[in-house]
Amino acid sequence: MAYRILTIAEIPKYLGSLEEMQKIFTDFNNLEVEEVGDGNLNYVFLIKNSKNPQETVVLKQAVPYLRVVGESWPLKRERMTIEIMALQKEIELCPQHVPEVYYGSHEMSLVIMENLSAHKVLRGEIIQGKVFRNFAEHISTFMAEVLFKTSDLCLDHQTKKEMVSKYINYDLCKITEDFVFTTPYEKHETNVYNPELTEEDLNFIQQDHDLKIAVAEMKYKFMNNAESLLHGDLHIGSIMVNENETYVIDPEFAFYGPMGFDVGALIGNLLMSYFSHEHRQQLLGREPYDYRKWLLDTIESVWIKFAEKFEALWIEEQLRNPQLAWNYPEGEQHFKVLRERFIARLFSDTVGFAACKMMRRILGLAKVADIAEIENLQERARIERMTLKLGKQMVIERDSIKDIAEVLNLAKELSPLV
Ligand code: ADP
Ligand code: MG
Repeated sequence: MAYRILTIAEIPKYLGSLEEMQKIFTDFNNLEVEEVGDGNLNYVFLIKNSKNPQETVVLKQAVPYLRVVGESWPLKRERMTIEIMALQKEIELCPQHVPEVYYGSHEMSLVIMENLSAHKVLRGEIIQGKVFRNFAEHISTFMAEVLFKTSDLCLDHQTKKEMVSKYINYDLCKITEDFVFTTPYEKHETNVYNPELTEEDLNFIQQDHDLKIAVAEMKYKFMNNAESLLHGDLHIGSIMVNENETYVIDPEFAFYGPMGFDVGALIGNLLMSYFSHEHRQQLLGREPYDYRKWLLDTIESVWIKFAEKFEALWIEEQLRNPQLAWNYPEGEQHFKVLRERFIARLFSDTVGFAACKMMRRILGLAKVADIAEIENLQERARIERMTLKLGKQMVIERDSIKDIAEVLNLAKELSPLV
């Protein structure tokens, strides 16, 4: 079917025309369609049969521009092709943490998937101070499975290279290259600042020689280290949760890049949540300790569990498939050293990317609600300065920060856990 932008009114008929939907809906005469407003790039609709609300799907369609800005910001709708392929690959590798895909159309740039109606977007839940005890366990599994199993540590040389080329994502990578690694660190017309930030605050980042070099190095790594199939935008707005389950959505930024970019995106976002809750716990009328302790424990567990699971997958693969290029006739000891060095390098990347993800949310175009929606602008600026300070130190010192506890200690120095 030739591409056209679906309107709410025509969605029931469109769904009725698809064979795949006959298994989901018993009839198409009573479908309720509601647009979800919180996405940035695309249109997302919740559809349910009002006669039988268990029959429900989500339809997401890409339009040839950025939805929040409009047609003045063109963006090829073919990004949906990547999103569909990435969802399918993630489902293959880690089905318990990815919504089921019922139908995908490259021609229509749309995907129809499981409605996670019992789950909510993690960012909103964290803003409200909700705790998710299993989250670190779940998300570390997702990251370890996808990052390991799409890398050269697991795939044969040809499959890996075919994957790299299949997931080339020029346009969305360019958005990241610009808005995560470039514009926030210079005076740029697209930057948006809290008016309470001073020129000195901006120059602390934008005029710092060492910082600009460190960020340029991270950018180059982002552009050139085709290690694994990344989600590419793994912040806490791309994750839906409830007490028992965790789902990763929205992989339109997927491409072959450095593993630490995904892990860092998540950790950087959780660090910002930690800072934001110095203020937010007061708003919620709570003692600030418990919730922020949970956030720090979660960050620590995310990294530790991820590293453990990644290494376990590697050892398992090595036993199963010793003829992979990573076979070490010298024995187990060499393999162990290689793993340790690999994980240490991955940690340094994670710290560096987390830092870029933090600083850009303060100085760049796209904000995080955790901080940007703090109404008291002076309070907001105070939290933003902490974020910038930690980001700067993390990116510059990423190779000498030895473990996740050290990152958390730096965060606690800026915002004591009391
Ligand atoms: P965009 O790419 O435009 O940012 P997202 O994929 O993030 O779009 O989706 C926007 C919003 O739609 C999400 O924040 C969430 O509220 C909702 N949403 C997306 N996918 C699902 C789903 N499978 N089930 C329920 N809600 C979803
Ligand atoms: Mg999104």
